[in-house]
Amino acid sequence: MKKSLKDLSYEEIQDWATAKGLKAFVGRQIFRWMFDKKVSSASEMRNVSKPVRDLVDKSGDIKLLETEKHEKSPDDSTEKFLFRCRDGQAVETVLIRSPRRNTLCISSQVGCALGCVFCRTADMGFIRDLSSGEMAEQFIQASRISGEHITNVVFMGMGEPFRNYDASIRAAVVLNHEKGPNIAARRITLSTSGIVPRIREFAQLPYQFKLAISLNAGDNAKRNLLMPVNRRYPLPGLLEAAKHYTDVSNRHVTFEYVLIRDLNDGPEDAEALKNRLTSIPCKLNVIPFNETGGGLERPSDSDVKRFLSYLENVNFAVTLRNSGGRGIHAACGQLYHEGKTP
Ligand code: SF4
Repeated sequence: MKKSLKDLSYEEIQDWATAKGLKAFVGRQIFRWMFDKKVSSASEMRNVSKPVRDLVDKSGDIKLLETEKHEKSPDDSTEKFLFRCRDGQAVETVLIRSPRRNTLCISSQVGCALGCVFCRTADMGFIRDLSSGEMAEQFIQASRISGEHITNVVFMGMGEPFRNYDASIRAAVVLNHEKGPNIAARRITLSTSGIVPRIREFAQLPYQFKLAISLNAGDNAKRNLLMPVNRRYPLPGLLEAAKHYTDVSNRHVTFEYVLIRDLNDGPEDAEALKNRLTSIPCKLNVIPFNETGGGLERPSDSDVKRFLSYLENVNFAVTLRNSGGRGIHAACGQLYHEGKTP
């Protein structure tokens, strides 16, 4: 598919302008219109001359996604968007409101190859990577449609961002850019299922982006069952990489733990977490499984409470996160577009 101007970085768009015989500042103006003012077409770029607007038009679409579906949870705390890409593929994006922040969960791939057993996206298989522009565009469209000031972004929707590493980092850099959406780097989180070499690479980045790891088991054999990626990158090496990230970056890592009834909610599961995580500066988010069919079950409220009680007195923070938008199937690893992909 043809690259869009939206796929370019701040620097590249200035290079594009100079290659067209324009001043670099014109490139900066265009970047601003696209990512700060969030326009969908060149015709909305008011302080840009007509010949430049024509050049932008000739360069291809800058609106990369069409909104196909927009649902709100009954309590208004969550909004889910189904966006259609230019090639007909579709991705989901979820906005989760809480009193202190509005968090947008964006997708990095159409489908996913990694086959986690609790994940609806896995059922689609891998279709394709999203471009950085398509990732940034999810933010732009969700901001426009919801009218919300989005304060946080998590790469935790469909796909494994570290299997589409360069585009995901590029999108994070654009979202962080002060001439664009200007979201603080510490409010941008990339979440991985455990692609160890990329975690080590991520630790070296000159940005304060945060890292989340979808953990789901503190026992290697159990994690093999839940997340096939663990066979390639087993738990001990993954946790070493997580520790490396915290040492190098001086930041905590967040572990996500989708709690599934009778699968990873027992005292031995909590004990394994205690043993594994004690030496890593981290926090653990426990997310009760969002039942979406497929035979796995959500633990009851008392099961959840009991599991959390096993983790009292650990030396890391443990937070219970409700799988936001339970009614509209919005949660980590549980996004799946129910519309058909042509
Ligand atoms: S949980 Fe994440 S990594 Fe695992 S299959 Fe789903 S999208 Fe892929």
